[in-house]
Amino acid sequence: MDREQLKQKVCAAIDARGKEIIAFGEDILQHPELGYKEERTAEKTEQKLKEMGLSYQTGIALTGLKARLKGKASDISVCVMGEMDSVLCPGHPFADPKTGAAHSCGHNGQLAATIGAGMGLLDAGAMQYFGGDVVLVAMPAEEAVELEFRNRLREQGKIEFLGGKQQFVIEGAFDDIDLVLALHAQTEPGFKMGVGGTNNGFIAKYIRYKGKEAHSGAAPHVGVNALNAALIGLLSIHAQRETFKDSDNVRIHPIMTKGGDLVNVVPADVRIEMFVRAKTTEAVLDANRKVDRALQAGALAIGADLNITNLPGYLPRAVSAEFNEVCRQAAAWLVGEGNVRIGGHVTASSDVGDLSHLMPVGSFSIGGVEGVGHSENYAIVDSDLFYLGAAKQFAVAMIDLLWDDAAVAKQVKAAYKAPYTKETWYKMWQSLCEAK
Ligand SMILES: [Zn+2]
Ligand SMILES: [Zn+2]
Repeated sequence: MDREQLKQKVCAAIDARGKEIIAFGEDILQHPELGYKEERTAEKTEQKLKEMGLSYQTGIALTGLKARLKGKASDISVCVMGEMDSVLCPGHPFADPKTGAAHSCGHNGQLAATIGAGMGLLDAGAMQYFGGDVVLVAMPAEEAVELEFRNRLREQGKIEFLGGKQQFVIEGAFDDIDLVLALHAQTEPGFKMGVGGTNNGFIAKYIRYKGKEAHSGAAPHVGVNALNAALIGLLSIHAQRETFKDSDNVRIHPIMTKGGDLVNVVPADVRIEMFVRAKTTEAVLDANRKVDRALQAGALAIGADLNITNLPGYLPRAVSAEFNEVCRQAAAWLVGEGNVRIGGHVTASSDVGDLSHLMPVGSFSIGGVEGVGHSENYAIVDSDLFYLGAAKQFAVAMIDLLWDDAAVAKQVKAAYKAPYTKETWYKMWQSLCEAK
């Protein structure tokens, strides 16, 4: 058996399990759950790991799972990862009627690809040719949403970070992993496969304006209107926009989660969630200082109290050129050089950014979906590509990385200068969130 033959054999094994892999992905699609609440998704994933005969851990970062496939040697460990969570999108055809959750970011495909890659490698007997281990991870909470809920989990000591990958890090679940392979779907007609790309980073904010209740009709003059304070704060943020450099890709997007209690009571409790995003950490901090100043202006004008909680967001993406090249070659092997797109900068964010500051991260994009991400028209149009193509990307890259003595994986690791250690990374977030 040579490396080429093994790739053929593993891809054939993924195709042979195609129906099962797609059915798993579609089942997750039809039962979406928000981050840190992926209980059914975790159960279904556990069932698959059990059927594959793997030993695994559950309950990492509340709902995450991790399983290890041993190579002939275990010199290095490479993780393939699928996210478990959905977003809220009540109008989506596969939205949960009770919660409004929907897989309109395609994470169900990542999870199926992770399981599918594991099945392909196992069925083809690939591990006996590898000088390192493959670690399959089902990852909770990629979408940093429901800040009030997650902040409560923080206060209860159940999590420290909004993102599942960050929480995995702090729980030590990445201590025995050297490299990470990630995947995201890309909605673009005709798009097949892509690699690399960078993201904005962000800081998350949970904001409360406190005023004073009074009868809105009879005696508003004795109240303090927290809604007015919030409106002035938000408008003052808009007045900062011309001070942001285009090249920093600043994005500030608040939502108001509470605007008062009753229409005839002066609003005294107003709550806002917000991300402040930018291409670099410096630009995030600069924008964040201006946002805080603007929010304070609202409180000052009305005489309301203001409480700002800064929560760790996600770091921008750091790049391993060597790892991206391995991914590019794997994708080109599958769909031909001309069908592989090299990623540019994306102004969305991912907690993959944090991982990339600790270890080399390679990333794939996969097509087979169309519509607008996070919207009700997001739809899978090519299941073979979306589920099985993604599983093959993972598996083929694993073969290139770990074949024989895992020389390629070792080179990727050696060439990467991680910007942080786990300890300095943790301290960085602490000081960012306290920064004024
Ligand atoms: Zn998303
Ligand atoms: Zn996503």
